[in-house]
Amino acid sequence: MVTELISVGTEILLGNIVNTNSAYLSEKCAQLGLSVYYQTVVGDNEERMKAVIKTALDRSDVVILTGGLGPTEDDLTKEVTADVMGFPLVEDPHSRELLEAYLKQYEKNNAQRRITANNYKQAMVPEGALVLDNHNGTAPGLIMEKNGKIAVLLPGPPMEMKPMFEEEVFPYLRRLQPEIIFSQMVKICSIGESQVAEEIQDLIEEQSNPTIAPYAKTGEVHLRITAKGESEKECRKLIKPVVHELKTRFGKNIFATDEDKTLEEAVVDMLKDQGLTLALAESCTGGEIAARIVNVPGASEVFGHGFVTYSNRAKRKFLGVKKTTLKACGAVSEKCAKEMARGGCAAAKSDICLSVTGIAGPDGGTKEKPVGTVFMGCCYNDKIIAREFHFTGNRTKIREQSTAHALAFLRECMLEGVSKKE
Ligand code: ATP
Repeated sequence: MVTELISVGTEILLGNIVNTNSAYLSEKCAQLGLSVYYQTVVGDNEERMKAVIKTALDRSDVVILTGGLGPTEDDLTKEVTADVMGFPLVEDPHSRELLEAYLKQYEKNNAQRRITANNYKQAMVPEGALVLDNHNGTAPGLIMEKNGKIAVLLPGPPMEMKPMFEEEVFPYLRRLQPEIIFSQMVKICSIGESQVAEEIQDLIEEQSNPTIAPYAKTGEVHLRITAKGESEKECRKLIKPVVHELKTRFGKNIFATDEDKTLEEAVVDMLKDQGLTLALAESCTGGEIAARIVNVPGASEVFGHGFVTYSNRAKRKFLGVKKTTLKACGAVSEKCAKEMARGGCAAAKSDICLSVTGIAGPDGGTKEKPVGTVFMGCCYNDKIIAREFHFTGNRTKIREQSTAHALAFLRECMLEGVSKKE
């Protein structure tokens, strides 16, 4: 069923509030297997609202509107939708009763405030509409059905809209659309988006149900596999062989098949499984890798020391980087990265140390080592390996990419037991 979301409110158009209602409703519709093809925002203007609602009802089966159900003159959603669909407004005795009880209580608690006649405008409903009680405010929600088209009207405040949707609208829509959508994520690191896309091109070309959608994230590629079916069990059955095929193609580069699992969690889990302790020796990332590691609950079991050695002096003092290395090769060099990693292991008495040193820019680049040049080192079991990276973008982007790739590099080193010896 084609579904369209309309958010009503001039304050959304002005950027005064963020349209979280649409994000929430889109996610819910996806769970219900409803295809959301359009999202629109319209201000509190009768003519423009009329045009938007007409268009939506022409091209979609279900139109869900939020906002503009309040008591004031510019709250027009109900009046305009009823007009477009050809429903007269009549007073709903049940809504009137609830409203009176709510307003009486409100007057009691707010002695200086007076209830005005326009409050009762909220008890007027399109004739024949399904009225949804609002347990968290005054404006009831409404469902109108005509000629195979459905309009669902919900209050704007998320704390009123969400419970109403969960309790009343979700089960209503579920009855209309018995199929559900279920998806599973496969998260990949250490290979780029284009390589991933190339390796699954045949699967994407053949796909129907389930579908595979790739998303690029800094240093990671996520593949969302989505199936439509009558139950979660049926969807899982459709998804299983695809995940199996992806595991065959990407092997160890898959670090998670769970939507919520982060790369740093995968790294911490691996350290725990292997019984290893980690130290970090960071320069251009300035502690960002440590920050991501300590985001993981229980990281203290495996992580004890993070050195932010930004200056040459700090690299020498805390990590024992040689003066001759800094002079001959510079701080941004393979040799320095290796010495940082080895020094970090020794200073922290850890099993493994990851080091990062690079030029985040905008200054400091040269022809030989342009901005974005980053060296990483990993010392493990007395073995040491280093890798050179070239990132692009501004300072923030380069640091962000360095951090993400450092976590992936660390994971790779652990998987391979750091194969090269210096
Ligand atoms: P009320 O009875 O409170 O007037 P209403 O249905 O008329 O409710 P609006 O007046 O359009 O809703 O919006 C009230 C408040 O709800 C907004 O000020 C805003 O805080 C929140 N709100 C409205 N629409 C959205 C939206 N799309 N996303 C997030 N918040 C919203």
